[in-house]
Amino acid sequence: MHNDNVTTINELKVLVENFVKARKWEKFHTPRNLAESICIEAAELLEIFQWNLENESINDPITLDKIKEELADVLIYCISMANNVKIDIATSIVDKIRKNEEKYPLERSDEFFKR
Ligand SMILES: [Mg+2]
Repeated sequence: MHNDNVTTINELKVLVENFVKARKWEKFHTPRNLAESICIEAAELLEIFQWNLENESINDPITLDKIKEELADVLIYCISMANNVKIDIATSIVDKIRKNEEKYPLERSDEFFKR
């Protein structure tokens, strides 16, 4: 059984790597193709909200299922990119959050949306 409390990022990296290797798709998984695929899947995620005037509600279970699927597609390609260019995901996220904390100090957090 997998869920966020018990599954490690490394387990997901291995799962994605095994899926790609079993199909011999490594040759297609260049950094550029993966970056493009992340954007394409992100657009599919955004498409769910296209022309949605009802406050972008996710209360509808069908919509939530679509969001889950497209978000998974984005994350799978992100993990595949990390596998391809050998990025440690946990390190890169923590490092980037630290940078963002410096760029957007807590005491000035109200300013950043008042443009
Ligand atoms: Mg998709």
